[in-house]
Amino acid sequence: MYSKFQNIETPFYYYDTALLEATLKAIRDEIKPYPHFHVHYAIKANANPRLLSIIQQAGFGVDCVSGGEIQVAINAHFPTNSIVYAGVGKSDKEIIIGLRNNIFCFNVESIPELEVINQLAVKENTIANVCLRINPDVSPHTHANIITGMAENKFGISMADMEKVIWLANSLPNIHFKGLHFHIGSQITNMGDFQLLCDRINRIQDWLDSHAIRAEIINVGGGLGIDYQNPQVNTIPNFKDYFQTYAQYLHLRPHQSLHFELGRSIVAQCGTLITRVLYIKQGTYKQFAIVDAGMTDLIRPALYHAHHKIENISSTAKTYELYDVVGPVCESSDVFDINIQLPTTQRGDLLAIHSIGAYGEVMASSYNCRQLPQSLTDKDF
Ligand SMILES: *Cc1c(COP(=O)(O)O)cnc(C)c1O
Repeated sequence: MYSKFQNIETPFYYYDTALLEATLKAIRDEIKPYPHFHVHYAIKANANPRLLSIIQQAGFGVDCVSGGEIQVAINAHFPTNSIVYAGVGKSDKEIIIGLRNNIFCFNVESIPELEVINQLAVKENTIANVCLRINPDVSPHTHANIITGMAENKFGISMADMEKVIWLANSLPNIHFKGLHFHIGSQITNMGDFQLLCDRINRIQDWLDSHAIRAEIINVGGGLGIDYQNPQVNTIPNFKDYFQTYAQYLHLRPHQSLHFELGRSIVAQCGTLITRVLYIKQGTYKQFAIVDAGMTDLIRPALYHAHHKIENISSTAKTYELYDVVGPVCESSDVFDINIQLPTTQRGDLLAIHSIGAYGEVMASSYNCRQLPQSLTDKDF
């Protein structure tokens, strides 16, 4: 199937839209038993317009973390009343974009932010729908840089401040308190971590009940992980277990809806970065495969020591050798992987770097004045 890539300028992002459709279908199928569950796609994972259009048509809402993302979501025809908006540093301009578009919910992360949203809503003569983002102090088993729900992280309102902030939200005239929001981190594959979050929320809900505070919605964020080791085997995450975990362990009140903000689990596996080998270089201790993609096109390995499976899709060699696969950017961290076994590789071979659909293209930069790669889908061939 890869022979068709031979004459295309590299590097480029390749998206398998058939896999994206199958993933969206799996979510729709597995969520069906729970009509009060709603998925908002976390647009920061990948804002490629062709993917957004497919996700929008599948009927999902959207989760934004900036005014720019709200604008992109609206341009992609997501209904504004399906937009949730989180972020610790919302500017006045961004808040106004949210207010004027009457978004479903601001996920508010601090007292000063709540006060500013109220002031701006007064000025705009509107009511802001608000969830409070609570930092539940839960520590998931994932990379430290992508944990967000521990007390030491900058995100959310601490459990200790929660009571005060709920009273404040209920007292501000142009704030409508809708409920609570949580997001404990990303690339979480252990359902026990989500179960811990459920336990924490259950205790908070008991407290809400005892104070006669009504929350219409609970939003548990995203974070479901994918299999970076075996991307071609486990193409679609186990959404059944994921939704079941929440259905089983989270005790919702009869009137409540439950909201999810899934990013990586929707788009990661449908993307592949295709890159060409420029040089095989014998180092003192190492053999390098120097490729034409760099950290500017996929920064996750440099940023989080993330692992992406790399495959030589040109070589028919029967012998294998060890390589460090590195990019051309003038940074020592511009390394995709070290000491990996590939079939004997030569200049001109194409390598596929898998699972790059989430936090790949969307994080690209033009550092070193590099051109941004083009993106293609299965529909282009
Ligand atoms: C990044 C983010 C998400 C999506 O996380 P994934 O791990 O990609 O599912 C959801 N909610 C918030 C608030 C986020 O910042």
